[in-house]
Amino acid sequence: MNENTSGWNHLRGIEPLSLCDWPGRTSCVFFLGGCNLNCPTCHNFDMAWNMEKLPILSRDDMKSFLRNRAQWLDGVTITGGEPTTVPGLGEILYEIRRISDLPIKMDSNGMLPEILEDILRQGLAEKFAVDVKGPYDKYPALTGRAVTADAARKNMEKVFVLAEANPQAFYFRLTAVPTLTDEDIETAKGYLPDGFELTIQNYIPPRREHAHADNEARRPVGNMVD
Ligand code: SF4
Repeated sequence: MNENTSGWNHLRGIEPLSLCDWPGRTSCVFFLGGCNLNCPTCHNFDMAWNMEKLPILSRDDMKSFLRNRAQWLDGVTITGGEPTTVPGLGEILYEIRRISDLPIKMDSNGMLPEILEDILRQGLAEKFAVDVKGPYDKYPALTGRAVTADAARKNMEKVFVLAEANPQAFYFRLTAVPTLTDEDIETAKGYLPDGFELTIQNYIPPRREHAHADNEARRPVGNMVD
């Protein structure tokens, strides 16, 4: 497949060394552009919505980086955007594993649980950090109307079932955006299966306010919008 039309076209950034993206491990971070949500609080909106603005990191660049640096790392973090929206994600993960022989952790908003299940079943990632945005009834506001409360609940419940069956593979995070109250955060904590804790992350405001006038054009497809 032509690299420009494949998932490799979404590879738009790398952080060579991170001490915090995979708690307890040193990892590099690969950024895959594109997202199925429109969170007004997104701190990485160019990666999520305007990846064309960002330079492509070629497959060869990625390979050469991993060949040179894998020995100094404990893992690879895949983030975005939303990695589960990237076509051919499995091939990218397979290549990273093949070249580096490192474990992979993937960040996700949890709205495409079937993809997470697929990746898990194929053994293409060891760890999934899944965001719980807040109470389900706040998902429409928290995601720029990209997801309904009902779809959010159904998708997250599928993720929680996966997590219960594979507790070592999942952890959950919530970013304390300004519209969430303490009560909202307690509600979100209550969604988690027994034995899981919700990691609360401080909110980092976007570098600039972004208009949502073009949200209709960016709105995701699939089962998420009423
Ligand atoms: S899920 Fe929301 S916060 Fe995360 S990358 Fe997508 S738009 Fe940004």
